Amino acid sequence: MGMPGSRPLNREILLPASLSKEILVHCLSVRPEEGCGLVAADSSGRAVAVLPITNALHSPVRYQMETREQFDAMKRLRREGWSLWAIFHSHPHSEPAPSPTDIRLAFYPDCLYIIAGLGTDPPILRCFSIVDGKISEHILRIVPDSVTNLD
Ligand SMILES: [Zn+2]
Repeated sequence: MGMPGSRPLNREILLPASLSKEILVHCLSVRPEEGCGLVAADSSGRAVAVLPITNALHSPVRYQMETREQFDAMKRLRREGWSLWAIFHSHPHSEPAPSPTDIRLAFYPDCLYIIAGLGTDPPILRCFSIVDGKISEHILRIVPDSVTNLD
């Protein structure tokens, strides 16, 4: 599968249902603006927390995390021994696929990009890696919280 050292494509990504709900609740609460935030993983790489962050642009088509809140969120990650697992944002009306701007501003190759599409009922989440301007979509599985809390 791919070149040595390359990232596997189309991985299966497990997102606990409670975190999926937190992402959607936040994004719906700020609609019609785009919502955004971070998802943290614990030391074993399991998603454990959603940290919503204010969209400083208050725009329906763009987002930029409020600097201070983002700084505080990253501080909390370090304090808890977590790592940055995903960056999420919403597309209030358009397809939940990375826009040219999303691709241009994807500075974290090791991070997942989760996009919430609110234009459908129910809303949907999709998950991507964006590395050097190239997008690969992963299979995002919303799983019961118990599945990722086996210890
Ligand atoms: Zn976007």
